[in-house]
Amino acid sequence: MWEELEQRGLTAGPNRAGVPHAIGCDSCGLVSHGSRTCPRCGYTLRQRKTNSLNRTWALLLAAALLYIPANILPVMTVISLGRGQPDTILTGVEQLVRSGLWPLALLVFFASITVPVLKLVGLVTMLIATHRGSAARLRERTLLYRIVDSVGRWSMIDVFMVSILTAIVRMGLIASIYPGPGVIAFSGVVILTMLAAMSFDPRLMWDAARTGKKP
Ligand SMILES: [Zn+2]
Repeated sequence: MWEELEQRGLTAGPNRAGVPHAIGCDSCGLVSHGSRTCPRCGYTLRQRKTNSLNRTWALLLAAALLYIPANILPVMTVISLGRGQPDTILTGVEQLVRSGLWPLALLVFFASITVPVLKLVGLVTMLIATHRGSAARLRERTLLYRIVDSVGRWSMIDVFMVSILTAIVRMGLIASIYPGPGVIAFSGVVILTMLAAMSFDPRLMWDAARTGKKP
């Protein structure tokens, strides 16, 4: 939103070039210097996020543990003409493929299997590289961080789908659909990985690379 306003000249632009002690706003991205709060959005400016690595590890561990019930427990049960069985994410994808709903199957697979795993693996890689003080591929890792940070919320598409399907099918007469406990575990995974991405401070990767040891 801030970038869009910036491009239309509706708000002050960034102050990027070579300012000493420049600091980027975690909320709107404006780079400024010499103030405690962001001159544009009022967010408190911090040199680095506090306890970033520990908090990210803790949230990732919790997300990885919840990922197990999210895949084992049923996410929903569809009962049609008196028959039906609980579906986990994977059997749900299988059902969609069998019904010929390929685009939907791909969407669910991407949102509920690929994205959470990529987020977990991506963040763990960044954390380990930071602990080791690695200077390799810093730009790529920072770009990966931005992707992980922005793509996370789209996994919720799966949770929305269960709620939308429940609403649609409930309106029909011959089928009924019930959300399962897997949805709660899965929502937990999405929320925890989003918080983990927010807790991680990509600037620490650059600090660690500069000093060559754990920040
Ligand atoms: Zn700001």
